[in-house]
Amino acid sequence: MSKQSKRREALLYHAKPKPGKIAVVPTKKYASQRDLSLAYSPGVAEPCLEIAKDKKNVYKYTSKGNLVAVISNGTAVLGLGNIGPEASKPVMEGKGLLFKIFADIDCFDIEVDTEDVDSFIETVKNIAPTFGGINLEDIKAPEAFEIERRLKEELDIPVMHDDQHGTAIISSAALINALELTGKDIENVRFAVSGAGSAAISCMNLYVALGAKLENIAMFDSSGLLHSNRDDLSPMQAVFRTDKKYDSLADAMKDADVFLGLSVGNIVTPQMVQTMAANPIVFAMANPTPEIAYDEACASRPDIIMATGRSDHPNQVNNVLGFPFIFRGALDVRATKINEEMKMAAVRALAALAKEPVPEQVNIAYQETRLNFGRDYIIPKPFDPRLIATVPPAVAKAAMDSGVATAPIKDWEKYIDELNE
Ligand code: NAP
Ligand code: MG
Repeated sequence: MSKQSKRREALLYHAKPKPGKIAVVPTKKYASQRDLSLAYSPGVAEPCLEIAKDKKNVYKYTSKGNLVAVISNGTAVLGLGNIGPEASKPVMEGKGLLFKIFADIDCFDIEVDTEDVDSFIETVKNIAPTFGGINLEDIKAPEAFEIERRLKEELDIPVMHDDQHGTAIISSAALINALELTGKDIENVRFAVSGAGSAAISCMNLYVALGAKLENIAMFDSSGLLHSNRDDLSPMQAVFRTDKKYDSLADAMKDADVFLGLSVGNIVTPQMVQTMAANPIVFAMANPTPEIAYDEACASRPDIIMATGRSDHPNQVNNVLGFPFIFRGALDVRATKINEEMKMAAVRALAALAKEPVPEQVNIAYQETRLNFGRDYIIPKPFDPRLIATVPPAVAKAAMDSGVATAPIKDWEKYIDELNE
C-alpha cells in the first residue's frame, strides 16, 4: 500500500462512520419511566447518600472502580513531539480502545491545556475522584518525572506514566528471557544505551532493580556520553553518569552485551553490532524507525537477539502487553498505588508466559506456524488470550503482598474465572 493510501485509510478510519474511536454506553436498563427514576432523580439520591456517609461506597455504586483516565498535555506524543492537547486526542482515544479490548477497562481520555507542572498536577488531582486509576501519557521529560512522582504521592489511586514504565516492564521481560537464552547473568553484562529520555531512563532503572550494575552502563544522549563532567543533566539522568571514557556510542558498543536504543532512528550500523560481544542483545526501539533496521541487524551476525518497537518483526516490545493488565490487577484489589513490586510481578509474569507452549490460536492470529520460546520469541504476543488471566493476578497478588491492596482477593479461582469470561 502506498504512503498516500495508508494515510487516507487512517484518516477514514478515524472519521467514519462516527468521528473518534470511543463512546459512552449505559450499563443499566433505561426503557421505562421507572428505570429512569432509578437512574436519575429521585432514585439516584440513595447511592449519593450512601457515598456521602462513606466515600468507599463510590466503588459500590458508580463506575469509578473500572474507570481509568488517560491524561496528556500533548507535549511528547508518539514520535511526533509537542503537538498540543487537541492533536494528542486520537492517541489518547486509541489508548482507551486498547484498555477496553484487552482488559475491559473503561477510559475517559483527558487532554489538558497546560505545560506547567503545578497546574497539570492540580488539574489531575481535582478530577481524580472520578477515576479508579490514572494513566499519564505522552508528557515530555523531565516534567513527566515530577508530575508522576507527585501524583503518586498525593493521590490514593494508582498512577502510572506508561511511556516510562510500560516500556521498562515489557523490555525487562524480554531482557530476562534474552539473557536466559544466551546464558548471561544480568550482574555481569555491559550495556550501551542510546537515549537518556523518559523511556531509556526508566528502562535502565528497572534493569538496575533486576540486578544490572551502574558501572556496566554507558548511556548517551544527543550531546554524547553521560559523563561525570557533564553539568547539563537532570537528577534522573545524573544517576547514570560514568567516569569511563567512551569516545562515541560505537566505542561503547565494542564488546557490550546489550544495546538499548530509545533515541532516534538509523544511528547504529551493522559494523557497530558486529563489534559487540558474542550473543549480543539488541533492543532498537526508536519508533517508527529503529536505531538499526531489524533485517540489517539480523543480517550482521547470526548470534544476535533482536527486538524493536515494531509490529512487523518478531519480538515487538509493545506496551499493550503491560498497561491494560497492570491496571486490571491494580483496580481489582483497589490498590492505592502501582509500586515496584507490582511492576516486577508483571515483568516476571510476562517473561514466564513466553516460556509456556503457545496456543494454536496465537499462531493463527500471527500467521505463524510455530511460535516457540527462543531468539525470535522472547515476549508474548498481545493477542495471546492467556495474558488476561496471567498478568493481572500476578499484579494483584504483588499489591496484596506489598500492602497496597485495600480490597484483597480471597477466592483466586473465582477471580481467574471472571478474568477469563
Ligand atoms: P524522549 O524523552 O524525547 O528522549 C529521547 C532521547 O533520545 C533523549 O535523551 C535525546 O537526547 C536522545 N537522542 C536524540 N537524538 C539522539 C542521538 N542522535 N543519539 C543519541 N541520543 C539521542 O523520548 P522517549 O519517550 O524516551 O522515547 C524515545 C524513543 O523511544 C522514541 O523514538 C519513542 O518512539 C521510542 N519508544 C519506543 C517504545 C517501544 O518501542 N515500546 C516505548 C517508548 C518509547 P537529547 O535530550 O540530548 O535530545
Ligand atoms: Mg505513549
